[in-house]
Amino acid sequence: CGIIGILSGEPVADRLIDGLRRLEYRGYDSAGIATIHDGVIGRRRASGKLANLARELAADPLAGSIGIAHTRWATHGAPTTGNAHPHTTENVCLVHNGIIENFKPLRAEVIAAGRTLSSDTDTEVVAHLLELALAGGASPDAAVAGTLKRLHGAFSFAILFKSHPDVLYGARRGSPLVVGQGQGEMFLGSDALGLAPFTNRIAYLEEGDWVRLDRTGAAMFDADDQPVSRAFITSSASA
Ligand code: GLU
Repeated sequence: CGIIGILSGEPVADRLIDGLRRLEYRGYDSAGIATIHDGVIGRRRASGKLANLARELAADPLAGSIGIAHTRWATHGAPTTGNAHPHTTENVCLVHNGIIENFKPLRAEVIAAGRTLSSDTDTEVVAHLLELALAGGASPDAAVAGTLKRLHGAFSFAILFKSHPDVLYGARRGSPLVVGQGQGEMFLGSDALGLAPFTNRIAYLEEGDWVRLDRTGAAMFDADDQPVSRAFITSSASA
């Protein structure tokens, strides 16, 4: 239900949790966070309140200057820790807001391709589709663009690739996602309020857009994968 992503030169875990707190008003039943550090995806998840996740993180901190975080409002799969986002495969890690309407045939497809699913969500299959695309030789850009075209329903995503720890992907269709610009760091958020502690320079993605962020800016594409520019404006959301 709420998404935060941060690509920075500084540790991100505490700020990801801070961002999630700003999105608590949207409602949620579980939460999770993942970072990439030294070539490893680290993940913490907890059902219930954000305080539970914060406690997990305090007991077992996550280093890393790139990360994504999520508050989940379960639509498919019980609100358990195992169904909480982020969902990961060997090389892919993502969080999702919304509903993938065609998740059942897609799950059958990735299982037939030899993948093993570990949650009951409509979300996890998207990580497996991306993993299969990478295994087939696709670049992260091509994997994202191709996978989005397979999905029916409403979504916003924040996506990490273990092999590309300096880029953060976002996408939206039928569910909101904004890009935030800082000094040498970039952000994704469900809304400007979630990013208010970090930046007020916000670009609103349009329906069908996807983006590739690096630490200096955003490459934005429309639903036909054509480069587009969505202007950064100064948000009045206050920290
Ligand atoms: N449909 C997804 C799930 O149930 C995402 C729900 C949400 O938007 O938080 O895991």
